[in-house]
Amino acid sequence: MLATAIFSVFRKLSEPLGIFGGTFDPVHYGHLRLAEESIERLALGGIRWIPAGNPPHRDTPQVTAAQRLAMVLRSTADNPRFSVDASEVETAAPSYTVHTLERLRRELGNEQPLVLLVGADAFAGLAGWHRWRDIFALAHVAVSHRPGFPIDVAALPDALGEVFSSRHLAQVADLKAAPAGGIVTFAMTQLAISATQIRGLLAKAQSARYLLPDTVLDYISSHSLYRNS
Ligand code: ATP
Repeated sequence: MLATAIFSVFRKLSEPLGIFGGTFDPVHYGHLRLAEESIERLALGGIRWIPAGNPPHRDTPQVTAAQRLAMVLRSTADNPRFSVDASEVETAAPSYTVHTLERLRRELGNEQPLVLLVGADAFAGLAGWHRWRDIFALAHVAVSHRPGFPIDVAALPDALGEVFSSRHLAQVADLKAAPAGGIVTFAMTQLAISATQIRGLLAKAQSARYLLPDTVLDYISSHSLYRNS
């Protein structure tokens, strides 16, 4: 009994934790499926959602960081494997992923395997991120892609292609063997949903129902968001 308890504590500590950052302007079912499928495919202990406060790589979000956080909280509340980290939302500093991971390392220590979740589109631009090479000292990176369309290394910028080839892990089980440094890829159900599309629909007063959770739509409607995109 005691051995079982100790083992289960040990297992919990060694289960990789998924880190899912995004603008979530607004959060939608594409994000939720990415999180859900990555838990199963990568054997993650859970996912920490981190809405960007002030995303540096893109246009200013259409609604406040607090509103984007509120929508992420609503969409994830019923899943015990999801947690939401409000730290980036609470600071005015640019939300650089490398800073977020350094903060998580201070909080969680150096042993916990961390797995940064990104879509293939986001990964293709990784070499433009602030201190991007340092990310691999802090976390693994898991890249989701369309079924049947694995990452095309030749299409990546040279420096990123080299890093991809040297860090690619053959098996997702290897994520458990080290706290950081590897790259895995996994195919996920394609949902061609984007926040851009949803904002466009809402701006034209068209239905966005079934593209995102009703709880989020209710929030958008009750706060009159995205009406003037
Ligand atoms: P926007 O349309 O405003 O650019 P978005 O829908 O792409 O937003 P983000 O918050 O920018 O959403 O994305 C956060 C992460 O979610 C990124 O890694 C992105 O690749 C991934 N992602 C976004 N939409 C999908 C989707 N439909 N399926 C899988 N992953 C997605």
